[in-house]
Amino acid sequence: MQENLVMGKLPPYLFARIEKKIEEAREKGIDIINLGIGDPDQPTPEHIIARAAKAMQDPANHQYPSSVGMLTYRQEVAAWYRRRFGVELDPRSEVVSLIGSKEGIANISACFLNPGDTTLVPDPSYPVYSIGTILCGATPYKMPLLAENGFLPQLKDIPAEVARKAKILFINYPNNPTGAVANDEFYQEVIAFAKEYGILICHDAAYSEIFFDNRPARSFLEYPGAKEVGIEFHSVSKTYNMTGWRIGWAAGNSYATEVLGRYKSNIDSGAFQVVQYAAMEALSGPQDCVEDMRSLYQARRDVVVAGLRRMGWSIEAPPGSIYVWAPVPKGYSSSSFAELVLEKAGVIITQGIGYGEYGEGYFRIALTVDKDRMEEALQRMEKAIGKVEF
Ligand SMILES: *Cc1c(COP(=O)(O)O)cnc(C)c1O
Repeated sequence: MQENLVMGKLPPYLFARIEKKIEEAREKGIDIINLGIGDPDQPTPEHIIARAAKAMQDPANHQYPSSVGMLTYRQEVAAWYRRRFGVELDPRSEVVSLIGSKEGIANISACFLNPGDTTLVPDPSYPVYSIGTILCGATPYKMPLLAENGFLPQLKDIPAEVARKAKILFINYPNNPTGAVANDEFYQEVIAFAKEYGILICHDAAYSEIFFDNRPARSFLEYPGAKEVGIEFHSVSKTYNMTGWRIGWAAGNSYATEVLGRYKSNIDSGAFQVVQYAAMEALSGPQDCVEDMRSLYQARRDVVVAGLRRMGWSIEAPPGSIYVWAPVPKGYSSSSFAELVLEKAGVIITQGIGYGEYGEGYFRIALTVDKDRMEEALQRMEKAIGKVEF
């Protein structure tokens, strides 16, 4: 047998090499602190689990769900958008459930791309935007996210012939891996650009609730004209520590929502209703757990930023997401620096190159270990590599 040409183009698993190193270190009895994992370490809040447990007892929830989600689920999503962002959504035509936002992000390409098409993809970024594109026989055009531009793509630098060919533009703020948050001008510029070239905007808002210093991140759908050109992908994964439950949604443009729903109705049978009830409880129940989650990450972020500054980094604290993105010191590549930190300090950081070619020269620290352990990781790094230069 032989995998097809498209599968042959999928990159090998990024962390394979580093995982081998972790195993070697563990075999030698070295205590590893893993700052590489982009998955919340805290449990799902109790009231959400309790709601799911109750829903589990109801046989009505044991059957095939609707592939676009229960209407009550879509209504809760719309109600959350109204409360949180002041955005009005028609739950029937402007919201579709997803088996996690990753599923929808990967499948939206199959809904809108023909072989040979182009998408506009940030670099560095979450790999799924490019992967979805490649699986359709289309080509991602990489938009560099540079520190000097606040990690926002420069739409004016995209050649007109590329923009004319592009079918989808992916954006993601608060951003993985850079921690950047977008401003109003950027979203407005994106909408104007989409209108000019007839491009579908796909905003990945997975981290909209993970913002710091009391400065809430905004939804793309808050901006005038957004619904005419785009959809937003979201989920309860990061906000409520529910990455394992696999439930999300796409919301916004009714045509894109309908096409995605129709595509999904042909290949999956929706999200387990028990999980939809859990997500409804998450969105409509008490929200102090979200405030606690933000404080927890903010305290960890401050430990990382302070530690890096002591060693000579001059970095700003990221305004959102669960990541700190920082340049590697002089003389290192992102891979060689990650290897040094693992070997000398027993700390795993992620090499920037894993998120795209413009991630080279950077590393990512995930804020997914507790504060004391985080402090220990930074102290170990300081002891092992001392002052750094750039
Ligand atoms: C974690 C993450 C998601 C969330 O994926 P789910 O499928 O909803 O769990 C989406 N986008 C980015 C950039 C992420 O880091």
